Parts: sequence; C-alpha cells; structure tokens
Amino acid sequence: MPEFPIHSVLSRCAAAVADKPPAAMFGLRDEGYDSLYEQLVSSLLSVRTYDEVSTEVSRRLFALARTPAAMIALDRETILEAIAEATFAPAKADNILALSRTIVEAYAGETPADYDKLIAFRGVGPKVASLALGVALNHPVIAVDIHVHRITNRWGYVATSTPDKTRDALAAKLPRDLWIEINRVLVPFGKHVCTGTRPRCSNCPVFDDCARVGVR
Ligand code: SF4
Repeated sequence: MPEFPIHSVLSRCAAAVADKPPAAMFGLRDEGYDSLYEQLVSSLLSVRTYDEVSTEVSRRLFALARTPAAMIALDRETILEAIAEATFAPAKADNILALSRTIVEAYAGETPADYDKLIAFRGVGPKVASLALGVALNHPVIAVDIHVHRITNRWGYVATSTPDKTRDALAAKLPRDLWIEINRVLVPFGKHVCTGTRPRCSNCPVFDDCARVGVR
C-alpha cells in the first residue's frame, strides 16, 4: 500500500481554507494574546464553545486581565459577566480563578510550561494543555479535537474510536513538523470542507488520497 502523502495532503487542505478565519487559538495568538497563560485561559474557554464565541469572550476577558495576578484581582461575577456566552461559563469562571490563584501562589505568577502540571488544573484536559503549549510555545504536542479526529480517520491515516486514541496513533506516525500544523489546518478544514454531516468530497482537494472511511 502506498505511503499516505501527509505533507502534501495537509498543504492542500491548508490552501483550501486559506481565506477562512483561523482556529480560535491561532487567531488570538496572532492578535498578540500569545502568552502561555492567555493561551491556557482561551483554550479552556473554547471547550464545547464555537470558535467565534470563544474568541470574543477571550478578548473581553483579556481586556480586564491578561495575567494571573490581574485575574485574581477581579471578582468572580466580573469574570462571569465577561465570559457569559461561553458554554459552562460558571464552571469556567471558577476554574480560571482557581488556576490563576495556583499560578500566583505556587508558581510565583509564571504559568508552568509543563504538560503534567497544566493538566493538574481543574478544567484543563489533554486537549486544552496541548493546544496551549503548542500554540504559545511551539511545544511538539498534538492537540486532537473532534475535527482532527474525524478527518484523519476518514482519510484512513488512523483507525481509532476516540480523540484520545487518535492522539496516540498520530504521535506514533505523524512527522513532528506537522504536530502543531495539523490542528491549525484541520479545524477550519473540518468546518468548511470535511464537515461532520455533509463533507464536500466532490470539491475536496485531497479526494484522490482519501479513503473516505465511514462517508456515504
Ligand atoms: S474526500 Fe471527503 S472525506 Fe475525504 S477529506 Fe475530502 S471531504 Fe473529507
């Protein structure tokens, strides 16, 4: 079986969505919200929330506070008001306050650039931690969300049942130079081309390389 041309496939996917808005975290980074703390908070806000909404509530919150010390100077109601449109806003407000307090008290205000320390914060799972480390610091970690999971399985590049298993499978075969790129490209590609319910296969730039696993 010929090797899957992953570099070429990903670059064609990138070209197909070049005029679309970037994934929320990458867009915020390009606006200057590029510290690990800001990426961690906006990644947490993005959980189960549309990109457009999480981008907007992140901007609103960062207008009030951009560091852990500034965040814990705010009261919970102020944070909640800024992020009210995000899914699970009350829990996210609590988690942002708690992790900010821990960073100030246990890490002298410096967000630890350490995957295990980040996932110890309440509300911060593997995807949130990976995305924050990858986007803010270029750490070679793979952030697998539902788009990356769905598309790499449709390609036949991996054959897995959950995003966590996809992350492990990708870690074993995806070239390292694509570990961050794959999320940056496949989030908009998954929204505009290889969508969940009606993928646009007839106009897809990687049709010839795609096994279309599970696509009717
Ligand atoms: S050919 Fe269809 S299933 Fe495959 S990547 Fe393109 S849109 Fe997705």
